[in-house]
Amino acid sequence: MRIDLHTHSTASDGTDTPAELVRKAADAGLDVVALTDHDSTRGHAEAIAALPEGLTLVTGAEISCALDGVSLHLLAYLFDPDEPDLLRERELVRDDRVPRARAMVTKLQELGVPVEWDLVARIAGEGSVGRPHIATALVELGVVPTVSDAFTPEWIADGGRAHITKHELDPFRAIRLVKAAGGVAVLAHPAAAQRGRTVPEKAIAELAAAGLDGIEVDHMDHDEPTRVRLRGLAAELGLLTTGSSDYHGSRKTCELGEFTTDPEIYGEITRRATGAFPVPGTGGVRL
Ligand code: AMP
Ligand code: FE
Ligand code: FE
Ligand code: ZN
Repeated sequence: MRIDLHTHSTASDGTDTPAELVRKAADAGLDVVALTDHDSTRGHAEAIAALPEGLTLVTGAEISCALDGVSLHLLAYLFDPDEPDLLRERELVRDDRVPRARAMVTKLQELGVPVEWDLVARIAGEGSVGRPHIATALVELGVVPTVSDAFTPEWIADGGRAHITKHELDPFRAIRLVKAAGGVAVLAHPAAAQRGRTVPEKAIAELAAAGLDGIEVDHMDHDEPTRVRLRGLAAELGLLTTGSSDYHGSRKTCELGEFTTDPEIYGEITRRATGAFPVPGTGGVRL
C-alpha cells in the first residue's frame, strides 16, 4: 500500500486541478492520497467525482496557524466539512488571504516591481490565494527565475521586504476545532527551517498534550538527522508519524508519492476519525 497524505490542487496553491491530481496519483501507483489544500475543502467534490478505481481519497485541509509569531501548518484529516465552527475559521483565514495578497502586491509596486493584482488573481483563479501565486507572477514578469527564488528576504520570504503576515489560527484552538469536527490533526513539516522559524520541541509537547495526533516526519524539507530527531520526539510524546510529498504540481519539485505513510499509521488515522470516511474510487461520477 502506498499512501501519500499531503497534496495541493488548484483549490489552493497547487497547479493541478483536483481531477488531474487524483488521476496523476493513480498513475504514480498510489493506493491512498489525501487532498489537503490550504484552508480549503473546495477541491474535494471534484476529486471524488474523478476518483479512479483503486485509489482512495482522504479528505483534508492544511490549516494556517501561528504560535508566538511562528507560522505552523496543521494537517486536518477526515473532519466533517460542514461542522460550523471549523468551517467559519477556514473561511476567515481564506478570505483574509485576498486583502493580504493585494497588500503584498502594493508593497512590490512600491519596490518598483510592475506587478498588478489582476495578474495574481488570474494565476490564483478559484484557489485560496497565497504567496506561491505572487511568486509565479514574479517569475512571469522576469523578476526572479523560479518560484522558490521569490521566497527570499529580498521579496516574499517570512519577514521579507514585501511579506505581510496573514490571519492565522491559534493551533490549540485549531486542534480543538478539528477534533470537535471528528478529524485527526497532524503537524505538517514541523522542522522545515528553510521556510522560516519553526516551533520548539516544547511547543510540540504542549500541542501533543492538547490532542495533536501526529507529526509529519518524512518530508522533503527534513534532512535525515531531522527525521531521526522527530521520530524520537514522536515516540516520546506518543505521536503518530507520517510521510508525504506535499505535492504542489509544477510549483514545487516534489513528486506524488515521493514520501509515504506506513499503512498501520494510516489505519490508525482512519480509526480515530469520526467526521468523514475515506472515499474509495469507483471510476464513475458520484457527487
Ligand atoms: P502563504 O500561505 O501565502 O503564506 O504561502 C506559503 C506557501 O508558500 C507554503 O504553503 C508553500 O507552499 C510555499 N512556500 C514556502 N516556502 C517556499 C519556498 N522556499 N519555495 C517554494 N514555495 C514555498
Ligand atoms: Fe502551499
Ligand atoms: Fe505546509
Ligand atoms: Zn502543504
